[in-house]
Amino acid sequence: MSVLVYIESENSKFKKSSYEALCYGRALADSIGKKVCGVVINCSNTENLNSYGADKIININSSDLVDFSSKKYAHALVEIVKSENSKIIILSSSPNSKYLGAHLSGITDSSFVSNVVKLPESSNPFIVKRTCFTNKAFSLTELTSDLKIISITSNSFGIVEKPNNPENETVEIKGISTNQKILDIEKESGTVTIADAEIVVSGGRGLKGPENWEMIESLAETLGAATACSKPVSDMGWRPHSEHVGQTGKPVASNLYIAIGISGAIQHLAGINSSKVKVVINNDPEAPFFKAADYGVVGDAFEIVPSLIKKLKARQ
Ligand SMILES: Cc1cc2nc3c(=O)[nH]c(=O)nc-3n(C[C@H](O)[C@H](O)[C@H](O)COP(=O)(O)OP(=O)(O)OC[C@H]3O[C@@H](n4cnc5c(N)ncnc54)[C@H](O)[C@@H]3O)c2cc1C
Repeated sequence: MSVLVYIESENSKFKKSSYEALCYGRALADSIGKKVCGVVINCSNTENLNSYGADKIININSSDLVDFSSKKYAHALVEIVKSENSKIIILSSSPNSKYLGAHLSGITDSSFVSNVVKLPESSNPFIVKRTCFTNKAFSLTELTSDLKIISITSNSFGIVEKPNNPENETVEIKGISTNQKILDIEKESGTVTIADAEIVVSGGRGLKGPENWEMIESLAETLGAATACSKPVSDMGWRPHSEHVGQTGKPVASNLYIAIGISGAIQHLAGINSSKVKVVINNDPEAPFFKAADYGVVGDAFEIVPSLIKKLKARQ
């Protein structure tokens, strides 16, 4: 029996959150004396995973799984669950992995708990700590089914290198069909996506209009960051909805989140709680965001941001 970790990839590149899920799987397996098996889909080069403690990596090869479909992926993973006799599946907290968790849970009639932030409090009974009420509280939740599925909140466990020499296996799976049909996929624009970004530069209504986003983009480019925004900014069409961060938008779990001209409403903060270091630039010293910030700059964004870009470029 092994702990199974689903490792998400895009264009053959593994997601940062999946490395974290693998590290979590390693630590959990060690605590209960089991092995860790990572599962990738249509990814033949898995060398990058060797540093994160897996005992075995299975690559599912299937022409039915070229584009993500939570149902099809779930059916394929269930095959591996059976062959490896796994009792625990670990997923990351990406939107796709959460969809997958729900379908895995449905197909196998198993408990699925998302937003897990720590190794289990106890393995028998299997109790995990998770965030709830948009990160405002924690709950201890018991998974009572034989197969247990959990997804890990990004940045909650961290990435701990543990070089290993995993056994590699390729499994061909054919003929997966479901009643779900993907009609169109709209890819996020920009070079760095919010979900995977180490640094996110985010702008709010304080920037006055879309014409002023050049400096946000320039700062992001200088730092190799993704760009994001508050809800009103995307509601007004200044920026695409894919950049909207918060309770009703995307969660951000970057190492650095720079908020420029954003007041720090509770709904915005709910989406960025998992970011490690928060820097706030706002001309109102009473802006609520300063209470959540690690570093705050009180001042006019139109003066501070250009001079920050200049200084960063000079350092480069
Ligand atoms: C059910 C619900 C869900 C919501 N979900 C979300 C969500 O997911 N995400 C989200 O973001 N919001 C969400 N909101 C909206 C949220 O309540 C706030 O209204 C919104 O976050 C405010 O956006 P803002 O900070 O960009 O704008 P504002 O509140 O207008 O703040 C602009 C800030 O810019 C500062 N500023 C102005 N000029 C400058 C300058 N020259 N230099 C520096 N700073 C300057 C101001 O001091 C101010 O603090 C939700 C609301 C509801 C009711």
